Amino acid sequence: AKQAGRARYSFYQPDMDAALAARLEMERELAEAIRSGQLVLHYQPILDARSGTISSVEALVRWQHPVRGLLYPGTFIPVAEDSGQIREIGAWTLEAACQQLARWKTMGRHPGSIAVNLSASHFRDARLIDQLSELIRAYGVGKGELTIELTESTVMSDSETSMQTIQALRGLGLSLAVDDFGTGYSSLAYLKLLRPQKLKVDRSFVRDLPDDPDDCVLVRAVLGLAEALDIDVVAEGVETEAQRDFLLAANCNQQQGYLFARPMPAEELSGRLRTWP
Ligand code: C2E
Ligand code: CA
Ligand code: CA
Ligand code: CA
Repeated sequence: AKQAGRARYSFYQPDMDAALAARLEMERELAEAIRSGQLVLHYQPILDARSGTISSVEALVRWQHPVRGLLYPGTFIPVAEDSGQIREIGAWTLEAACQQLARWKTMGRHPGSIAVNLSASHFRDARLIDQLSELIRAYGVGKGELTIELTESTVMSDSETSMQTIQALRGLGLSLAVDDFGTGYSSLAYLKLLRPQKLKVDRSFVRDLPDDPDDCVLVRAVLGLAEALDIDVVAEGVETEAQRDFLLAANCNQQQGYLFARPMPAEELSGRLRTWP
């Protein structure tokens, strides 16, 4: 066994070195990316699928890599979460979104609300609330104009501190959305306590609508629950007209997905936003 263990060790060693080296290289590049402005936000609208009007937008981070081109968050967010750089990315993202909101308002346009994804470690960062109140002041962010998207696991774990942070976010006039709803360990009790403005039904539940009877039942159940608690529901990942129509029939008007629009640079979206004031 010892022999085999050693053999396995020597066999995997070069790969592990390569993987580690690649990770360290990405961390180094990511630090440079944050510093030198290679991160960009794209915005995907969330629509009232009945009227086709945009009710809010979600900011999604991308990395304009000098060599590898446009990188999606799936390639670098996990690395940033492990290295702790996610808090810097989060701080950058929040500021960029507030800046864009102010820019749109100056142009006489309004996105309704800009939703920003917040990582678990940034949510637990003691500096978060100060960062946010400073941004709100600096960019004149009004009540409900900024939405924070948190996953269930982020909010549900460590409930005592979580609830304090949630109260502080609310106190700042931020709106709260529970992201990827249905994929984490949800507790109805927490939902009742938390009272987020929004639930975003994960796209894994939307994908097989309307053919999968289980998913039809599940989505209707979430809608019923949310209605009872007076929480708005957004369906994520709507790609087909059949999905849209099922959701509309179930009274889920707020929808987001490739059927309506992909995430896009701010300039591309500007003309489609409502005029303001
Ligand atoms: P998410 O928050 O669930 O964001 C939605 C993802 O679904 C986005 O992928 C979006 O492009 C994609 N999407 C939207 N509509 C459709 C559709 O109809 N079909 C399919 N198949 N996909 C659709 P993206 O931009 O690659 O982001 C992936 C994840 O990365 C996000 O999932 C979010 O968890 C994370 N992320 C993105 N931006 C940030 C950020 O600024 N900070 C943090 N912490 N995480 C971020
Ligand atoms: Ca999200
Ligand atoms: Ca989501
Ligand atoms: Ca399914």
